[in-house]
Amino acid sequence: MGVTIRHFFGPSVTLQYPKERMELPKGARAKLYVNIDDCIGCNLCARACPVNCIDIETVKATDDVDLGKTSTGNPKRFWLTRFNIDMAKCMYCDMCVHPCPTNCIYMVPEYEYSDVDRSNLVFHFSNLTPDMVAEVKEKAEEEAEQKKREREEMKRKKAEARKKKEEEKKKQASTKKNDKSDDDKPSTPGKKDS
Ligand code: SF4
Ligand code: SF4
Repeated sequence: MGVTIRHFFGPSVTLQYPKERMELPKGARAKLYVNIDDCIGCNLCARACPVNCIDIETVKATDDVDLGKTSTGNPKRFWLTRFNIDMAKCMYCDMCVHPCPTNCIYMVPEYEYSDVDRSNLVFHFSNLTPDMVAEVKEKAEEEAEQKKREREEMKRKKAEARKKKEEEKKKQASTKKNDKSDDDKPSTPGKKDS
C-alpha cells in the first residue's frame, strides 16, 4: 500500500501511445537500413550474420558500364540484383554493421513495423526493377560467354604454337642426327681422301 500511495501522488510515467512516443536512446537497435547507393556488394554483412537473414545476389557489371563510386570513394563493380533482410529472423546483434567497408548498413530508430504476416518483415533494398535485373543478368552472361570463348581461342592458339615449336625442334634434332651419321660413315675403300 505504501508503494502504491507513493506512486499515486508522484508524477505520471505512462505514455499515451500512440499519441505519445518514447524517444529511443542513442545507438538503439530497432531496424536495419541499407543505403543501397553506397553498397559495393561485398557480401561481408551477410557472411557476418549468425542467423543468415541477409540475402544478397550480385551480378558483375559488364565492361561497358561504369557504376561509379560510393560516397566513401569505393568503386562499385556489381549490380545488386537482390538485397533482402528478414527482420523476422534478425536478433539485433549488430554484427552485420561493423564489417561494412562503406558504412551503408546500420540500425535506425524505427520500431513500429510489427505485422501478422512474417513475409512482410522481409525488407527489400535493391533498387532494380525485375526487367533491369533480367537485362543485367543477360548482358553479364553474354559477356562471360564471350570471354570464355576468347580464353579458349587463346589457349588453342598457344597449344598450336607450342606444337609447332616442338615439331620444329624434332625436325632440327633429326637433321643434326642425320648429318652426324653421315660424318661417322667410313670413307669408300680404294679412294683416297683429297
Ligand atoms: S543484426 Fe545480427 S541477426 Fe540481424 S541481420 Fe545483422 S548480423 Fe544478422
Ligand atoms: S557489407 Fe556493406 S557494402 Fe558489403 S554488401 Fe553488406 S551492405 Fe553492402
